[in-house]
Amino acid sequence: MYSESLEVRISAPLVRVSTTRPIVGQFLDRTVEIVRVHWWNGRGMPCVVEDCPLCEEAVRVRPYGYISVLLVGRPAAVVLEVPASAATELLSWKVRLSSLQGFLFRAYRTSGKPNSSVEVHVGDHREVNRGRRLLCVRSCLATIWELPGPQFEEPLNHYTSRVRSALRARVAAGG
Ligand SMILES: [Zn+2]
Repeated sequence: MYSESLEVRISAPLVRVSTTRPIVGQFLDRTVEIVRVHWWNGRGMPCVVEDCPLCEEAVRVRPYGYISVLLVGRPAAVVLEVPASAATELLSWKVRLSSLQGFLFRAYRTSGKPNSSVEVHVGDHREVNRGRRLLCVRSCLATIWELPGPQFEEPLNHYTSRVRSALRARVAAGG
């Protein structure tokens, strides 16, 4: 039913909030995607929660939020990664505003430490240029994590089971 040729492959750089300067930009997605991430063999890998091969290995896991954004001074979209507390804050903004798409934001670290918490201030709304909207965070993350990408109109549970198989193969191969 789903063929590999229909796989959506998009890549965009992953951006984290630095300790030195705030990030200023505009949300392209309607909401933030919260993903539990395992830290395994020196890199992040997504948790598939049910029957997760990395949970079975008791690999440390932590939730993060991902949303595609445009940054001031950069023409192409990027994927912004924020810690769980900032992601939860963004979700409540999403509920209040019904969609984050088009809203301007400013994100910064609360201290000079790399893992300190992140504050996100949501500001005014500006229309999003149509050509810049079509960024699928799930597909970008798959590219970054070297996992299969989602296929066109593929149900989430179907995609998750393909990711689970890929993770199992990766764990069995030891990396
Ligand atoms: Zn897991």
